[in-house]
Amino acid sequence: MTLLETDRPTLDLEDIVESAATALEGAPTLEVIRWAAATFGDRICLTSSMSDAALIHLVSKVKPGIDVLFVDTGYHFAETIGTRDAVEAVYPVNVINVTPSRTVAEQEAALGPRLNGRNPDLCCHLRKVEPLGKALEGYMAWFSGIRREETASRRDRRVVEWDRKRGMVKVNPILDWTQQQMDDYIEDNGVLVNPLHYDGYPSIGCEPCTQPVAPGEDPRSGRWAGMGKSECGIHL
Ligand code: SF4
Repeated sequence: MTLLETDRPTLDLEDIVESAATALEGAPTLEVIRWAAATFGDRICLTSSMSDAALIHLVSKVKPGIDVLFVDTGYHFAETIGTRDAVEAVYPVNVINVTPSRTVAEQEAALGPRLNGRNPDLCCHLRKVEPLGKALEGYMAWFSGIRREETASRRDRRVVEWDRKRGMVKVNPILDWTQQQMDDYIEDNGVLVNPLHYDGYPSIGCEPCTQPVAPGEDPRSGRWAGMGKSECGIHL
């Protein structure tokens, strides 16, 4: 039974967000995760791009069995699919493979080849934003692994925030983590990592839209390189 069910059954979700966002800003990561697990029970899930399993490792310690949504766009690297399968085998979580309404072949038949090159915003909407939105409909809240230092648009985000686009709560427990903290946590805990990280890909998305990055370059500069795009739209 969750706090929502026991204490204040009519509590407005936006009220929860406002008070929690203030109370938990700067709080230890596990405190944020414990609050979310106690508040939302089985009505919270986690989303992962399978770049690494740091957030999955953290959350599964507090809430084993949690649903982990992975958006399988049909354009992923084989290494990313392998990481998804390894996560499913190693951690006590329930991995859910979320797929777009059309396969890649069906999309190409309907909209022409290489939509990612001609209109990446539409491609990301159809293959990422829309399917994830549908999959999230059964939940009240979701954990995301975004971090402030990743992009300019993430700097002003809050640890607990109201997801206006989907009408639900979004919890960002590692928002303040630096890359060094990520690296240390992964090493100290033997966390699963997408092997592409060791091959020059510090940020990993779909294969047609992800390039390796030289040491010292912006880690996200290999995503949609030359397209004037830095976010798929899930986190905007
Ligand atoms: Fe399409 Fe590229 Fe977006 Fe993947 S990252 S959904 S291939 S535009």
